[in-house]
Amino acid sequence: MAGPEVTGRHALVLFSGGQDSTVCLAWALSRFERVETLGFDYGQRHRIELDCRRTVRRELAVQFPHWAPRLGDDHLLDLSLLGQIGDSALTSERAIEMQANGLPNTFVPGRNLLFLTFAAALAYRRGLSVLVGGMCETDYSGYPDCRDNTLKAMQVALSLGLATPLTIETPLMFLTKAETWALADQLGGAALNELVVEHTHTCYLGDRGQRHDWGYGCGQCPACQLRAAGHAAWVAGR
Ligand code: ZN
Repeated sequence: MAGPEVTGRHALVLFSGGQDSTVCLAWALSRFERVETLGFDYGQRHRIELDCRRTVRRELAVQFPHWAPRLGDDHLLDLSLLGQIGDSALTSERAIEMQANGLPNTFVPGRNLLFLTFAAALAYRRGLSVLVGGMCETDYSGYPDCRDNTLKAMQVALSLGLATPLTIETPLMFLTKAETWALADQLGGAALNELVVEHTHTCYLGDRGQRHDWGYGCGQCPACQLRAAGHAAWVAGR
């Protein structure tokens, strides 16, 4: 499959092991000469995502041999201190619910700004000039630190603060969930979509007991519902 032209720039992908960041990793592997990955361990209740990261990286290298030489080191940063600030449903046993301000209580205020700052510092050390993240305005407009304008401002602030040009790429920013499935299909065909279904993790409850046509999960939590609806819309539109 003819991909985009590969540039000599090197990228760092914010990679959680979920669907969105896996598609972002494939996107980066299709266009950058070297791609490293970064995960954050912030005391998630469910460590399944962190296990999925390793599996997804391995499967991408096995199933897409032309990407394998470009896939560089994986990094995992311990940000467990976020638990001291967040008091959110992902790091404590509180139920996931919408708060009065319209944001789900899984939201750690400004979390994405912190992630990007740590990512930029690591990228600087590693000689990587592009940060790639799965932030998306279409489905997560409730997260102000994932919006396009916020990320453009971060790109300027980080480039100035590090005195080096740094680009933040967000290939999913204006895509619907159905379009994210379509992008995976475009990047790696049925094999990549099958990899996403089989090996990535989305469910807030950490449930991998039941396999649906869109992947594993409880099927009830907001993350599962979003993923299932996106998959159904993509299948219907093919
Ligand atoms: Zn779920």
